[in-house]
Amino acid sequence: MKLKNCRICKSTSLTKYLDLGLTPAADAFIKEEFKSSNDPVYPLEVCLCNDCGISQLNYTVDPKILYQNDYPYESSTTKTGRLHFDQFGESVVKKAELNSDDLIIDIGSNVGVLLGAYKKRGCKVLGIEPSKHIAASANQNGIETINDFISYNLAKKIVSKKGKASVINITNVFAHINNLESLMKAVDSLLTDNGMFVIEAPHFLNLIEGLVYDTIYHEHLLYISVKPLNSLFNRFGFEVFDVDEVSIHGGSIRIFVCRKGQHNKTKSVNQIIKKEEKANLFNISRLNLFSEQVKKHKKQLRELLLEIKKQGKSIVAVSAPAKGMTLLNYCEIDSNILDFITEKSFLKIGKYSPGAHIPIFSDEKLYEEKPDFALLLAWNFADEIIENLSDFKNSGGKFIIPIPKPKIV
Ligand SMILES: [Zn+2]
Repeated sequence: MKLKNCRICKSTSLTKYLDLGLTPAADAFIKEEFKSSNDPVYPLEVCLCNDCGISQLNYTVDPKILYQNDYPYESSTTKTGRLHFDQFGESVVKKAELNSDDLIIDIGSNVGVLLGAYKKRGCKVLGIEPSKHIAASANQNGIETINDFISYNLAKKIVSKKGKASVINITNVFAHINNLESLMKAVDSLLTDNGMFVIEAPHFLNLIEGLVYDTIYHEHLLYISVKPLNSLFNRFGFEVFDVDEVSIHGGSIRIFVCRKGQHNKTKSVNQIIKKEEKANLFNISRLNLFSEQVKKHKKQLRELLLEIKKQGKSIVAVSAPAKGMTLLNYCEIDSNILDFITEKSFLKIGKYSPGAHIPIFSDEKLYEEKPDFALLLAWNFADEIIENLSDFKNSGGKFIIPIPKPKIV
């Protein structure tokens, strides 16, 4: 569906500045039996709202296509990720002075890693997760999880059964929601009077400055900065009262939202807005420049890979995160360049990458085939992955880190 109104402020004044082409859904890994069919593709284009300043996709893929069937993203697969969520839970428990009476809700709770951090510290927890098998796996792990999309009706049901929540988390999911009005109505009915709504998302500032354009894919409808969100929260009587910068996913922000006047506003809120303005995140000339940099990056990466192939060397990719699929599809890196992809998650092993249909194997394949180069698609976890695959490196294998500037290590 083509976007008509800004998802945050409803404005119709939208300017497109980045076109990553027609691409398949980044998490739609292909099963063997569909290997020879063509994947459905959708426009992947980013526009600026000239009124509130948010950057967003100008096309919405039906969330049922994106999340309900075989959704393969499990948040607990890296050590760095698990540690991050544990520290995240600990810091909110302290900030909100939570105890065993408090209910914590996580929207898009995945397998329940963040809620586990609250539960460990004595809080009551409840997850909401649309993907059936991921919700089932959370329930198996002892994290009570409702298999559904968040909605006002669901919020009312939860309140009548469990009472209101002292903290509602939404981590790397806020940007996935097309109807934010409906989300805010649900939050409004679920949250206690002085409760906190905590949004964590990659900061758009880092996407622009770090050229992290591979994080643009159909699941990510919005590219989050603090300033534009105010117009949404204001309409519902909420405000941002604190912001923390965190290092995960190449630089994220944790935004603390409450009902107006319920918590003291810290200096960090205006500081981050000033930083966003100084970086020209709401300025179309800066965004057009970003778009040029993206085109140049594609050229550089392709040249590097084609040069390696010309020397008769082999290249594979290591890790198959959704963002890697944006990189492969946009840069037209197909099975003429990559022999295969290796991955830890059993939800992806044995399948094929969306678009180029490159086969995905477990990491062992790397040791069997001994390719010359491994392109790191989850480059934000480069240190951890390189350490895990030290035998590959010790036997002469080299890694290619693609972003922000392609380099060999
Ligand atoms: Zn807007």
